[in-house]
Amino acid sequence: MDEKYDVVIIGGGPAGSFSAIFSSQRGKKVSLIDKNNQICKKLLLTGKGKCNLTNMNEMNEEYISKYRNGKFLINVFHQFSNIDLFNFFENNGLKLKIDTGKRVYPESENAEDVVKTIRKILDNNKVRIFLKEKVIGIKKEKDSFIIKTDKRTLISEKVVIATGGKSFPETGSEGDGFIFAHRFGHKIIKPVPALCGIEIKEEFIKNWQGINLKNVCVSAFLNNKRIGEEFGEVLFTHYGVSGPAILNLSGNISENINKGEIKIVINFKPALNEEILDRRLQREIKENSNKTLKNLFKN
Ligand SMILES: Cc1cc2nc3c(=O)[nH]c(=O)nc-3n(C[C@H](O)[C@H](O)[C@H](O)COP(=O)(O)OP(=O)(O)OC[C@H]3O[C@@H](n4cnc5c(N)ncnc54)[C@H](O)[C@@H]3O)c2cc1C
Repeated sequence: MDEKYDVVIIGGGPAGSFSAIFSSQRGKKVSLIDKNNQICKKLLLTGKGKCNLTNMNEMNEEYISKYRNGKFLINVFHQFSNIDLFNFFENNGLKLKIDTGKRVYPESENAEDVVKTIRKILDNNKVRIFLKEKVIGIKKEKDSFIIKTDKRTLISEKVVIATGGKSFPETGSEGDGFIFAHRFGHKIIKPVPALCGIEIKEEFIKNWQGINLKNVCVSAFLNNKRIGEEFGEVLFTHYGVSGPAILNLSGNISENINKGEIKIVINFKPALNEEILDRRLQREIKENSNKTLKNLFKN
């Protein structure tokens, strides 16, 4: 017999799990479906297995608007802030710690403890969890949604699609949700890679592998027009560039990659103007006149 729910949530990652917790706490009969054999598989990889849950920076408008889609985030953080998240976990028995960069981790530095806590809260709130079940279709009949998995059919008044993006598909996020949402008439903005390294086509880059630059300024240009700028660390790799400044810039680059030529420019000394830099270089060259330029720059 088909099972009836008030809310069926597709995807048991952090988004789906929290959606299930809050719906059930509002008295709804909730079911959570995930194709993996456990909830929050991707979360286990986060923060290099330690899970960087949030940070304790003040989430004011100025801070949030630095991020892409900042307006949307302001509303989201207004409803459930980083402080709310911190308290949520601590009140549910997970001890947290804040590092010097204001990043929040579980005290155990083990992402599994975060997943266990989420699972415990889901169970305490009597969320019906179906694991190893893939949702293969959703349709609407009158006022109900019919959700078909590879094992059963569920009927629900509401459906939440929380199937994640498309990164790390081996954790389950293969893009099914985009197909479901599109079939119901939602406009889908094509997902692009973000928070990733950038491949560079020029061969010389391979010779720079392993070089790590600190406190540099990286700018990205599309057809010579600046599309983004970041300060921080850049790491040269066998395929191109990576490191925090590049990861932060990668979303802008992905969005524009098919629109023309992308150039990345690195200012090694962003704190110096051209005149001071010129004077310094002249001085260095004079003081090291017996060295080749290559060796001079190495130091
Ligand atoms: C390497 C790495 C490190 C990261 N580090 C951090 C970090 O330190 N801090 C941080 O905040 N974020 C981090 N993130 C990002 C974070 O993991 C994601 O933002 C988060 O997992 C997104 O949650 P979600 O619930 O939207 O999607 P997901 O976690 O992707 O969950 C989606 C779920 O939907 C399920 N699903 C998909 N299709 C179906 C279907 N048809 N039927 C049933 N189930 C389905 C999947 O199995 C999956 O479990 C990191 C990500 C990666 C890849």
